Amino acid sequence: MNTFTLLIAALIAIACTPNSTGQTGQKSGSKPVSIYSTSTGKATPMNRIEKTDDEWRKELSEDEFRIARKKGTERAFTGKYWNHHEDGLYLCRCCGTELFPSATKFESGSGWPSFYDPVSKANVGLVEDNSLMMERTEVTCARCGAHLGHVFDDGPKPTGLRYCINSASLDFKKRK
Ligand code: FE
Repeated sequence: MNTFTLLIAALIAIACTPNSTGQTGQKSGSKPVSIYSTSTGKATPMNRIEKTDDEWRKELSEDEFRIARKKGTERAFTGKYWNHHEDGLYLCRCCGTELFPSATKFESGSGWPSFYDPVSKANVGLVEDNSLMMERTEVTCARCGAHLGHVFDDGPKPTGLRYCINSASLDFKKRK
């Protein structure tokens, strides 16, 4: 086989490979993911949460839907958590997954809630984002895919990371 034939064969193989978008009727429960919980102290396999836009719209405000489900960004210094200092856990607004402990929240001056470490790396997804002519890393909820914000490498010790997160993608659970 020459290179051209190999290339064509490879393209056909790729085109014929089933993928998530090619499977119809996939809903919650189709793809397991491991999510860490601070109450059990371990990661547990659970089903990913997949909902339609209409289903998310019923559970979220207009701003929350635009930001968490459609990769929007709230204006700096306008969200409910950028200047929030209570002791507890920040959760995914969409699915309740534990995302960031308040102990890792710091004053970044950016106007968005900023954290240097998630509850567990298992609970967040990192996705290359080249939109808006910038090379950034998007942060998502590992369980429901919610857009949370972006992570940058100009954060404080010990990680040196700055997870810059939209308040609209978060809920807060106060420590009892
Ligand atoms: Fe989530």
